Amino acid sequence: MTGKFLIETFGCQMNVHDSERIAGLLHRAGYEPADDERDADVIVINTCSVREHAEEKLYTRLGELRVLGEETGRRPIVAVAGCVAQQEGAALLRRTNGQLIDVVVGTQRLKMLPMLVEKAASALSASASLAGAERRRAAHAPFPEVDTSPLDDVSFPLGVVRRGDRVRAYVTIIEGCNDHCAFCVVPYTRGHERMRPRADILAEVREAAEAGRREIQLLGQIVNHYQAPDDPACDFAALLVAVHEVAGVERIRFASPHPRHTGPALIEAVRDLPKVCKHMHLPVQSGSTRVLQAMRRRHSREEYLDLVGRIRAAIPDVAISTDMIVGFPGETAADFDQTLSLVEAVQYESMFSFKYSVRPNTLASRRMPDGVSEGEKTARIVALQAVQREIQTRLHERAVGATVDVLIDGVSRRREGEISGRTSGNTIVNFPVPGGETDGERWVGRTVPVVIRRAGPNSLWGETASGA
Ligand code: SF4
Repeated sequence: MTGKFLIETFGCQMNVHDSERIAGLLHRAGYEPADDERDADVIVINTCSVREHAEEKLYTRLGELRVLGEETGRRPIVAVAGCVAQQEGAALLRRTNGQLIDVVVGTQRLKMLPMLVEKAASALSASASLAGAERRRAAHAPFPEVDTSPLDDVSFPLGVVRRGDRVRAYVTIIEGCNDHCAFCVVPYTRGHERMRPRADILAEVREAAEAGRREIQLLGQIVNHYQAPDDPACDFAALLVAVHEVAGVERIRFASPHPRHTGPALIEAVRDLPKVCKHMHLPVQSGSTRVLQAMRRRHSREEYLDLVGRIRAAIPDVAISTDMIVGFPGETAADFDQTLSLVEAVQYESMFSFKYSVRPNTLASRRMPDGVSEGEKTARIVALQAVQREIQTRLHERAVGATVDVLIDGVSRRREGEISGRTSGNTIVNFPVPGGETDGERWVGRTVPVVIRRAGPNSLWGETASGA
């Protein structure tokens, strides 16, 4: 079977990149991208299960596709990939009453997707030739293809990925995680930690740079735990040096480092390598040492603040961002106050904050009752986000009048003649296309100096400095 595919992605950069891999695999198998869901012969939903809310999106989406199928009479192959697929496996078919899902493929079996789609398509067309009751019996039961086997092979054939971003390339360096933080489902959905060989990573970086990607984003669950399996001398800091040497690479980012693996060599690499963005995403999760211990985070509030101090001393202009959870089991009002005071102390450039939700298989789900009420979680996240918003606004206002280098990554869809990009610290900057042009497309991928004129909590506005 060939035809058109559509991929819908929920969740993190890892999932975005997995979708680029799925697109490449389906393209290599002869499929072309569809314009929309009505046009698609294969729909892949690449799921996220890191929060309950993210998981529920899958079921909502399946319901929408079912209604669409009834309206149009079309019956695309529906494949569920990603973390919910890995976590639920065949149980997904029971939860959806055996309807609509034809393929379930786990995070570690993406390479099997085209074959599973082919098998499902053959079974679907065979059942279509049956009549009446026979077809109803055969409609789903014999052929949902489920493959969630763990696989240690972290290689991915060079050249398969179809990158969705013209400016940046995601390059996975580590899959999985061994840390088992009490709240986190990732070790159960992405498996244990596996490192990609240095040679594979550098080959992919070179290929991406040759294809015009200016920014490389190195991805791993604990990206700075990297140790090359093919080179004992290559840890994460050494890998940054090697990527820095690749011609055509202009910027390097990485996500996400763990505070406890952020040592002097990494801080020096960020400080000394000009292509490495002056931005560190340092997930903290709570400001209370008591809660951090319950979370099994392996760093205390004091150690974290000490680390932030050392990073700031070495790199004064560094932007630091974080992830925060409120309402973890046992979090008291006093613990939450510690979170607020840590946020004030660090002055984060940006933050992803979430209300705690129970995730299957995790230590917290087995041993820690979800004791903070939903109302209290909501009150805490509202308070946290208000504090963070004030901090971001203040930090951004300080940038007004400064000139910053912006890597242009897109053209505004809403305002003609406006383009946007990011600073080294990862702040979004909007500004008119240089020279008063209306079409900004030719500027995408270029880095220009921009004078900041106005600031908001989430982005900046400016104009290109003269001579850009
Ligand atoms: S370090 Fe903790 S939060 Fe991060 S992926 Fe591993 S288990 Fe999850």
